[in-house]
Amino acid sequence: MAYLRSLIIGGSLIAVAGAAAFAQGGAAAAPADTANDPIRILVARLDLEQYKATIKGLTEFGDRRQGTDRNRKAVDWIEAQLKSYGCTPTERIKYTYTTPQRGGGRGRGGAGRGGAGGGPTVPVGGVIATGKSPTPAQGGGRNWGIRTRTGVNTDSLKQPDAAIRAIDSQPATDGEREEVYCTKVGTTHPDEMYIVGGHMDGHGWGQAANDDGSGTALVMQLARVFSDPNVKTDRSIRFILWNNEETGTNGARAYIEQRAALQGKEDPAGSGKYPEPKWLGMIQHDMMLFDHGMPRADGTVSPEQRPEADVNIEFQATSKFADGAQKMAWFFKSANEKYAADYPARVGPHMTNTDSGPFQDLIPAISLRENERGEQIGAGWDPHWHQPTDVYATFSDKDFRLGLNAAQTTLAAVAELTGARIQK
Ligand SMILES: [Zn+2]
Repeated sequence: MAYLRSLIIGGSLIAVAGAAAFAQGGAAAAPADTANDPIRILVARLDLEQYKATIKGLTEFGDRRQGTDRNRKAVDWIEAQLKSYGCTPTERIKYTYTTPQRGGGRGRGGAGRGGAGGGPTVPVGGVIATGKSPTPAQGGGRNWGIRTRTGVNTDSLKQPDAAIRAIDSQPATDGEREEVYCTKVGTTHPDEMYIVGGHMDGHGWGQAANDDGSGTALVMQLARVFSDPNVKTDRSIRFILWNNEETGTNGARAYIEQRAALQGKEDPAGSGKYPEPKWLGMIQHDMMLFDHGMPRADGTVSPEQRPEADVNIEFQATSKFADGAQKMAWFFKSANEKYAADYPARVGPHMTNTDSGPFQDLIPAISLRENERGEQIGAGWDPHWHQPTDVYATFSDKDFRLGLNAAQTTLAAVAELTGARIQK
């Protein structure tokens, strides 16, 4: 009960003005007049075919591995799309990435990331545990039931499509990196913003269609809807496509290092312009398509999206801003209940291994995914994760629709949080 009470009346726990709506009990208030509800109108502007086409466009650049020409070309393509939506001006963060020496790097690096902890003799997809004894999951919680080996494919010959293999063939080299963003400027509080992110880099000798073409396309489609000049918001929204997530969230860390101190400063003074509005919350989207359930006893996973598929909204219970993050997570779940078409959302406390992580001790931060990252993806629920099979053709409309429902969820929640309306 104490937990529930703090959720409902603890609005003051979040020191952000834009999050005041959380104090309403985590419920996004939908006007009774649903036909004229601006949020419903905006959600209806999301479209499955446009979402799929954006993912398809990203997969033309193969796995978009950081430090390659295909990654740089993908950044250019994303920027051109954002401009075509009217999300201008676009801007870029520049930083240098150097591969850490083996054993000396911070965080997760390279192929060591994402292993479920099984021995290297077990191939990907091979059953390593049936969960009879408790083992800890990444990010907290524990592994339940059947668990299979996961990892990052580094073998080009496992990609059967010669064209994809050729696109993915250039190796990464250390050096300068870029990542692109654009901003919807708020009318009454241009000095405050929510950050809506996904990561555009991938690896594994596929097309990074799901990880994270699906999250990148979601962010781009939200940028399209909010950039309509007739859509006005009180607060600002930044749409950003992180680079170098797969090497350890280096793009998100570079952004924080370069821009945290600029928050809320008017520049030039008296201009009414805020190059870095104060951060109210960070919402990350990473792997949005595939929720086919737990691996079976033989290590295989159902070829069909399970009817119980859901969008997993995670916050990190051990983070400094856990209270605010958890309220934001429940607020998103409420927005899902009101505005998503096909799939529900669930909230979990173990957000991990994604670009919202570097923000979690600075501001309320959450992630949206197809499954919980630690207990489920980490236990082999997505057999395409970092594999040559993460290609556009692997996924069906039922899969793409899960991503679209996540887009509906974030669009509705962010529209409510920023006071979105449609000018007649
Ligand atoms: Zn990812």
